[in-house]
Amino acid sequence: MDMQKYLKPQVAAIQPSVIRKFFDLAAQIEGVVSLGIGEPDFSTPLAFCEAGWRSMQEGKTGYSPNPGLLELRQAISAYLQQLLGLTYCPENQIVVTVGGSEAIDATFRALICPGDEVIIPEPAFVSYAPCVELAGGVVVPLPTSAEQGFKLTPAQLETAITPKTKAVVLNYPGNPTGAVMSQEELNALAEVLLRHNVLAVSDEIYAELIYNGQRHASIAAAPGMRDMTILISGVSKSLAMTGWRIGYVCAHPDILSGIYKIHQFSLSCASTTGQYVALEGLRHGQAETAKMVAEYDRRRQFIVRRLAEIGLPMCEPQGAFYAFPSIAETGLSSNEFCERLLREEKVACVPGNAFGVSGEGYIRCSYATSLENIARACDGIERFVNRLK
Ligand code: PMP
Repeated sequence: MDMQKYLKPQVAAIQPSVIRKFFDLAAQIEGVVSLGIGEPDFSTPLAFCEAGWRSMQEGKTGYSPNPGLLELRQAISAYLQQLLGLTYCPENQIVVTVGGSEAIDATFRALICPGDEVIIPEPAFVSYAPCVELAGGVVVPLPTSAEQGFKLTPAQLETAITPKTKAVVLNYPGNPTGAVMSQEELNALAEVLLRHNVLAVSDEIYAELIYNGQRHASIAAAPGMRDMTILISGVSKSLAMTGWRIGYVCAHPDILSGIYKIHQFSLSCASTTGQYVALEGLRHGQAETAKMVAEYDRRRQFIVRRLAEIGLPMCEPQGAFYAFPSIAETGLSSNEFCERLLREEKVACVPGNAFGVSGEGYIRCSYATSLENIARACDGIERFVNRLK
């Protein structure tokens, strides 16, 4: 019997994640070296876990306040003050969410009226478009290229804006490209957004993973943009806490109150134990994050060098933990490349088209895995590419 007919058409129309499909395939092959995973290979530092354990021993195992533990919101506020120089009030401008993922979903659900357009610069993280569509919005993909360093330009943004544009998604440091924007570059985008009254949904979950001595910049810190920005972040990447599911969203109280209503009635609160772990990490985790960033940077430099030796051209990633080389010269589609690489060399990468049409011709290689794995994977990629010549 066709039970699909019971599904809401918008849900039935959403395509399953290419990444998931690809990893189901990889799981069937023994001995695969994976550069596919978009999460830290580090475990959550024990000192943070111990804070969670202590909270459990003290019987703090019930619901937390709906917007999150006040101490955690205070710690997030202090942290953002230090990172961005912006003051978010813990009482009415911060909600703790179930990972950055919930923050993305709840933000679009709170903002989007049917037919509202959301500009998504691509290649982009896979959740934005489905969340916009499920909220009743229209995705306006805006392709960016390696030549422009995968950075959205003010001129491009200007051409994509229509009277129906509600928001633009910004994700710097970016998944899958590793692109990073300077404050000056963001200020130039802000000028366009403010002229058209368009909001920025800024996913800054990789803010801490930034290299070459650069400092993280935020559109929220651009003149006039503070109230026009919904800032999404979390501790999944910076504190190696993906499994704890702790993120947060910060916005003007009027906007945040809408996001909060959705959070309150759909999730109640994020995991209480997870919040205690995140609190410890935000208060005392800087040295741990610095150690992880140093290790990611070592791997980044290695993979950049190896991919160049192999002859896959690339715009050097400046942040996050992904390399995004072009495979166009091989003549294969990104799907064919990754499928054959998996079958012939047992190396898993993610086809670039998983991140939008403009990702075609690229592959995403995560370096959130050991240097040894990266070296083995690069050797496999090298043999494979050499055979194609
Ligand atoms: N945004 C981006 C750009 C991401 O890459 C991810 C995780 N892959 C998320 C948000 C979601 O993070 P979380 O695990 O905290 O839900």
